[in-house]
Amino acid sequence: MKKFYLYNTKTRKKEEFSTTRKKAGMYCCGPTVYNYAHIGNMRTYIFEDVLRRTLEYCGYGVEHVMNITDVGHLSSDGDSGDDKMEKGAAREGKTVWDIAKFYTDSFMRNCEDLKILRPTIIPKATDHINEMIALVQKLVEKGFTYENSDGIYFDTSKFPDYAKFARLDVENLQEGHRIDVGEKKNKTDFALWKFSPKNSKRAMEWDSPWGVGFPGWHIECSAMSLKYLPQPLDIHCGGVDHIPIHHTNEIAQVEAATGKEFCRTWVHGEFLVIDNGKMSKSGGNFVTVDTLKDKKIEPLAYRYFCYSSHYRKQLAFSIDNVSGSQTGLNNLRNLVKRTVRCDEKKAADGEIENVLEKFYKAVLDDMNMPVALAEVWGILRNAEISNEIKKAAVMKADEILALDLFKEADEKIIDGIKFEKFENTPESELQKIASSLNKRSEAKKAKDFKTADEIRNAVIAQGIEILDNKDGVVCRNLGTNFAG
Ligand code: AMP
Ligand code: ZN
Repeated sequence: MKKFYLYNTKTRKKEEFSTTRKKAGMYCCGPTVYNYAHIGNMRTYIFEDVLRRTLEYCGYGVEHVMNITDVGHLSSDGDSGDDKMEKGAAREGKTVWDIAKFYTDSFMRNCEDLKILRPTIIPKATDHINEMIALVQKLVEKGFTYENSDGIYFDTSKFPDYAKFARLDVENLQEGHRIDVGEKKNKTDFALWKFSPKNSKRAMEWDSPWGVGFPGWHIECSAMSLKYLPQPLDIHCGGVDHIPIHHTNEIAQVEAATGKEFCRTWVHGEFLVIDNGKMSKSGGNFVTVDTLKDKKIEPLAYRYFCYSSHYRKQLAFSIDNVSGSQTGLNNLRNLVKRTVRCDEKKAADGEIENVLEKFYKAVLDDMNMPVALAEVWGILRNAEISNEIKKAAVMKADEILALDLFKEADEKIIDGIKFEKFENTPESELQKIASSLNKRSEAKKAKDFKTADEIRNAVIAQGIEILDNKDGVVCRNLGTNFAG
């Protein structure tokens, strides 16, 4: 096995990963399927995918479990507010089951577009109600719970290490900010089982030893992870927002119920931010993979963009930044194409490992993808490395990067103008054409059609077809003056 150093939230240290099991068990908190996943969510799933690919490179098999939350996630991460699923159903006039199916399918398509490997097991919360009830029952038997008019609650005062994982300052936790105290005994107590409202029927509700109701969100992930993975889990992941509430509560309830460590390594990814705030579904400030596609940005350009920052640092989103990544990815693919246009001789494995030494060093150092990506550029530009070796090395690197680096880059977008079939035209030339065509658009806006036509004719004279589509201007190389 290769040495893989991973930052563990639990110890706040980079540690060498190891497991005694045949397959490393990795649990990733999955999406709440009441709306489209936004590209912030997808940033988290991309880093988790890199983690899985890296474990596989190191020689581990991976049992990768990712749940689908289709009940019980309330609009606050505490225990108040509406059930997000029921809210989604009301918004769209559909059943909760239809909503869950629709947004699960959409999420799976996003994952495919981003080349995120399909988890080995994808359990749905609503298929595991019995396991959740059994786990709550254990906690009831061991005396960690109490009942109030709202449901069965976990009594955090009975779990002395509650604040340890997130280094919570419980004394000073703001009421109302993190939780509504209501009938809770302690600010940090959380619902394990919520009762259905007395005078109305919920769309999703089940019988339990305590009355009709539905599971709390935190118990879902714990019950499903313990069903499919041996305890202690090797790895549990999610976004940083899960550290103080969701994962803290998961640790408390599982360790209280089983008396054993829940998980050895906790890995958390930082946020994608927009206008300095977290991109969020409830905030309404979100961009999806489909929004990017509508803007002619490839999903993999977003994956490339994610590599511009370490997964434990925030990443600021703007369309311009991601468009820049599309250009970067196109250029990288063009460079690959020029490089590999060689007679292929098989390169020896040892040579490839040598050339990729710094690439892997960066990946194995807590997935330092900005450095790893720069290494790939460096390899391709290094005149001392033969083309055969470059080709084989890039193919290996792409098993982790998953950027489809051998894809024909036959489309580029420069200053909003789309260029087709200009692979061998220098960027500076395309820049000139883009700037002329943008001047033409301005002239048209100002009703100066004479200037607009002059510019158009000058571009056409270079053997370029101009298409004015509803999404913008497209230039197609007809292959007369520009090498295609
Ligand atoms: P949800 O569907 O809201 O349960 O979130 C799914 C995953 O996306 C969780 O692991 C969250 O921590 C993560 N997440 C939510 N918002 C962001 C964001 N803006 N940037 C990165 N990850 C996020
Ligand atoms: Zn979870």
